[in-house]
Amino acid sequence: MSRSSVAERLEILADAAKYDASCASSGTSRRHSRDGKGLGSMEGMGICHAYAPDGRCISLLKILLTNHCIFDCHYCVNRKSSNVRRARFTPGEVVDLTLSFYRRNYIEGLFLSSGIVKSSSHTMEQLIEVARSLREDHEFRGYIHLKTIPEADAELIERAGLWADRVSINVELPTDTGLAQLAPDKNSSQIEGAMGRIGDAIAQARDSCDRFRHAPRFAPAGQSTQMIVGADGASDGQIIGRANSLYARFRLRRVYYSAFSPIPDASAVLPLRRPPLMREHRLYQSDWQIRYYGFSVGDVLKATDAEGMLPLDIDPKLAWALRHRQDFPVDINRASREALLRVPGLGTRAVAAILQARRHHRLRLDDLARLTRSVAKLRPFIVTADWRPTRMIDRLDLRSRLAPPRQMELFG
Ligand code: SF4
Repeated sequence: MSRSSVAERLEILADAAKYDASCASSGTSRRHSRDGKGLGSMEGMGICHAYAPDGRCISLLKILLTNHCIFDCHYCVNRKSSNVRRARFTPGEVVDLTLSFYRRNYIEGLFLSSGIVKSSSHTMEQLIEVARSLREDHEFRGYIHLKTIPEADAELIERAGLWADRVSINVELPTDTGLAQLAPDKNSSQIEGAMGRIGDAIAQARDSCDRFRHAPRFAPAGQSTQMIVGADGASDGQIIGRANSLYARFRLRRVYYSAFSPIPDASAVLPLRRPPLMREHRLYQSDWQIRYYGFSVGDVLKATDAEGMLPLDIDPKLAWALRHRQDFPVDINRASREALLRVPGLGTRAVAAILQARRHHRLRLDDLARLTRSVAKLRPFIVTADWRPTRMIDRLDLRSRLAPPRQMELFG
């Protein structure tokens, strides 16, 4: 087989990496300017955006080292039985690409993953070599996110964190049954064992850094994981429960939810259609509810239906509020931060602004209008100095009034 050019392999390996959502911006529409109108495109491969530990949005070169793979995960376009064009980079080629993109100011870092060639440990060594060479040979100070392979030797997984800012291991599917059915070469105890070791190494390194100025850093941006949504029969309730257990046990920075996309030559065990993208969005909202809004998993699960699914037409915070009408209205001038965070339509910034503003005077609806996006949508749930929603919260048609076409924006 003739060796493809770097540009051809880059096209293949950037395209193959697009299914990993761990650094993608989801929920946005795809745009392009191929018709000569406008400028820019959302369709280019190879560069994605992620948030750095300091909150900046940065551009990353997002590629696979290779899309050859000895595993046969049914949902994956790169599985060994898939009929796709294959390509491979050497670690040196990825280093050169990263440096040349970086020097041209196209990127601020690298997101590197890989199919598994020869063995998990062999592949992991190659991934580590890219990161090591960038850091040691070229003093690369940009951001590096390495996907790690749970089946690789423990010592290799731990070495990855010495060079990378963030490491991640995908749990892939929310349930063990789903994993056994759709990724027969993978094993959930191996995945969780590797996540546990990374979590311990991160905690130890933080402790050492607190005590010794020159202690080696280990994945300072933490670890993350990804779950595929809609490829198996797991309900939203199961997904939320699993994510919460992963956050608690392995101190993850993020769990990413990736709506399953049908792939060419798909296996017969997969659904024919992708789940609604809104499902992925609702899961992210429920994730935020738990991590930033003080809801428990049990609270979020109360917003699910008999099948354990979150509503798609309204967001989970509004769904919870509609089932807990007895907790509303909330007095904007007296309620605790925790109670304010439960009001549909109030985000963390708006709540902080309310707490600050009410120190100086009692807030009226006009004041709230300046601090939030849409005061009209808050009205059924709040009391202000000049507003009390007489029985609005008890209306039987409240849900339909608040649902789309004018969907409430609850996480402002
Ligand atoms: S291990 Fe599974 S998910 Fe990863 S590249 Fe191979 S087939 Fe795809």
